[in-house]
Amino acid sequence: MSYLPRIDEGACIAQGDCVDVAPQVFQLDDRASVIGTGPDELLLQAAENCPVEAITILDADTGEQVYP
Ligand code: SF4
Repeated sequence: MSYLPRIDEGACIAQGDCVDVAPQVFQLDDRASVIGTGPDELLLQAAENCPVEAITILDADTGEQVYP
């Protein structure tokens, strides 16, 4: 299984926790954006740390939403 992160830029408050958790996956400018990939657990951890649930995790194979 492999996860894909998606950011709701309208919800992101640019507070930066996702970048702290996974700097190889997320970059912060005006809003966070996805710049890479990483282990599923790390992606999930970053999403769980987002204070406004702006990060959605999808299963890359099925397209199913894994989080939230
Ligand atoms: S943790 Fe959430 S609110 Fe903070 S920068 Fe990342 S996506 Fe935006």
